[in-house]
Amino acid sequence: MVKKNLNLLTLTNGESFQPFRYALGSAGARFFQELKDNNRFMGLRCAKCEKVYIPPRNVCGPCFEPLKDWVQVGPEGSIYSFTVLRFAFIDPETGEKKPVPYGYGFIRLDGASTNLQHFLELPKNGDLKIGMRVRPVFAKNAQGNMRDIVHFSVDGA
Ligand SMILES: [Zn+2]
Repeated sequence: MVKKNLNLLTLTNGESFQPFRYALGSAGARFFQELKDNNRFMGLRCAKCEKVYIPPRNVCGPCFEPLKDWVQVGPEGSIYSFTVLRFAFIDPETGEKKPVPYGYGFIRLDGASTNLQHFLELPKNGDLKIGMRVRPVFAKNAQGNMRDIVHFSVDGA
């Protein structure tokens, strides 16, 4: 049995506990605050190579340049890669099985150089394709985490 708890994964079938917390850092904190307060995606652009990181990070990987230029990206984007899940498993964040099938993939938000991973709503015909245009569906009660995005929906589906 898994107890529903958004902060801890609490398994009682073996008395196993896996509590964890981690700091978002300054870039992650602003990213999630913007997501929560304004339903917008903010990334950091490298002044040297112009790569735009989403989610943002504090230092450019190739350049080692400190990143300070905040830029808004998305909210629309394209599917970069994906998979369709057809086997239900317990989501550690909710303690519940997510109904199948559903998509999961890398989304390249417009203006970003990196990908965001998230759930993808399947279109009515069930076919996802690389390059399909997607837009986020935001949660009604944002809490400043990735679940502030319910999933990405295929345009026109
Ligand atoms: Zn760079």
